[in-house]
Amino acid sequence: MAICPQCGAEYRKEILRCEDCDRDLVEELTPENAIYDTSEARFVALKTFATSAEAEMVQEILTKNQVRSLLQGEASTDIFPSTAVSVVLLVDERDLAKASELVEAYFETELEEPLDGKEDQET
Ligand SMILES: [Zn+2]
Repeated sequence: MAICPQCGAEYRKEILRCEDCDRDLVEELTPENAIYDTSEARFVALKTFATSAEAEMVQEILTKNQVRSLLQGEASTDIFPSTAVSVVLLVDERDLAKASELVEAYFETELEEPLDGKEDQET
């Protein structure tokens, strides 16, 4: 049995990725690898972004680190930046400390390496 750590869907053993989430499946869900919401998680606001693109980028990092997160708020990348709506990134209260660290580390890296050196490695 293979299980998606994000949505909890079960797949046949020979399936390696969840189609919906585009995530590698795990053999067994444990508290360490489970990403999907198994409990009454309380989501708290971690950070507000001006664009959904940036918010999604950070969310991806959190997801890779097994931190559950949600994006809240409407934003359109088609609209002029001046009218962009803010997007709030919410994380599970229990993951707040870890998420803050990850986000901080992310933005520190951004400052050190401005534009090039975009990491685009998928495992
Ligand atoms: Zn899934």
